[in-house]
Amino acid sequence: MPTRHWKLHAGRLIFGLALLCLAGLLSGQLLAVMLGAAGLYLCWVVYNCFRLYAWLREGTGNPPESLGIWSDIFDRLNELQKRSLAQQKQYQSVIREFQSMSDAFPDATLVIDQGDNLTWFNNAANRLLGLRVPEDLGQAVTNLLREPDFADWMAVGDKVQRHFEMPSPIDGNIRLSISTVRYRDGQRLLVLRDVTEIHNLEKIRRDFVANVSHELRTPLTVLLGYLESMSDQPSDDIVPVIHRMQEQARQMQALLNDLLELSRLQSADHDQEDQEVDVPAILMQLKEQSGELSQGKHDIRFEIEPGLRLLGNATDLESAFRNLVNNAIHYTPEGGAIAVRWEEREQGLCFSVTDSGIGIPSRDIPRLTERFYRVGSDRSRYSGGTGLGLSIVKHVLNTHDANLVIESELGSGSAFTCVFPIERRSSRTV
Ligand code: ADP
Repeated sequence: MPTRHWKLHAGRLIFGLALLCLAGLLSGQLLAVMLGAAGLYLCWVVYNCFRLYAWLREGTGNPPESLGIWSDIFDRLNELQKRSLAQQKQYQSVIREFQSMSDAFPDATLVIDQGDNLTWFNNAANRLLGLRVPEDLGQAVTNLLREPDFADWMAVGDKVQRHFEMPSPIDGNIRLSISTVRYRDGQRLLVLRDVTEIHNLEKIRRDFVANVSHELRTPLTVLLGYLESMSDQPSDDIVPVIHRMQEQARQMQALLNDLLELSRLQSADHDQEDQEVDVPAILMQLKEQSGELSQGKHDIRFEIEPGLRLLGNATDLESAFRNLVNNAIHYTPEGGAIAVRWEEREQGLCFSVTDSGIGIPSRDIPRLTERFYRVGSDRSRYSGGTGLGLSIVKHVLNTHDANLVIESELGSGSAFTCVFPIERRSSRTV
């Protein structure tokens, strides 16, 4: 039935009322005619209301047929219902498309709310983590993934450290790398990627490097021993040759030591509980060693905040600090100044080594911590480096949630600062 304009209905009503008034006046029963007509109209309204209610309760089928304004009301409601059904179908197809797309996604994807409870996950999460619908929905994600460090990482780590690695809860051979993205009102998306292959390859590489370095160390030590004894009773023409051989063998030894140090830091069983590290004591030892290395050729100053201790691994920290101090000595010409500081600053606990040495071109700074990366050898007076020192430093700092800040000006000197989060300050007072 075509929709009519409301003015037509109002016109009809007025016309009907006028006819009734006329009929009432002509018959002398105006009140009775009007009451009768009003009663009939009310019955018709109630009847249509009832049909409307019955149709709405049913929720399906076409709306009832009627006359006048009721016909328009039913038509309009029918139109609205059709539009909302079409919209609903559109939404459903978008949801289905999203669902099949997320199910085809190879990474396990979990949505968690503000309270870290699981609200949605895809098929890969079922395959890699064994999650089930509906049992696991609404559960705390830390109850579902029961890896000891995972809860800590969820609480603070994702702000400091972007990725977290752990074995799959259903198969220890599967290695998962987890990253998280925050969105809307504290909700988080957790993405768990299967990195088993990369993990295994990385392990093979590490083991290979560690084994080769270890195997080479013994023959090299023997070689150095023989060279040492030969250099004691040399014939004149062979002296420079022996010295050259010693120099090269020592260089190889330093390289093997650094490779072994790196693989020790990267080995799976290296992760240990943090301990209270007496940094001032470590630096006092370093002060002595640096004096020997420099042989009085540099002005080396140590400014150490007494009693400032750090939570971490003493051996690793000593190795990182030693590398930075040794670099400053190696890359600072005779007569230069070196300052080593350990103090609490606004941004955190800072260990810094500042030198007045040869400096580093700004284009090389971002790459310095890469393995074997060296700044052009022609500018360096020191050729005994392995190119692994700063990789070791970076690795140690990563495991201590710390950052390495490098500032340098070519020809004027460099400053290497390790910034540890303030939370790593040991609370014990000395
Ligand atoms: P290496 O064993 O060669 O010193 P590192 O990883 O410790 O290896 O350092 C990488 C490179 O960074 C070095 O080759 C050197 O050119 C540069 N470098 C490191 N520390 C300093 C410094 N204090 N002053 C100038 N250059 C530096």
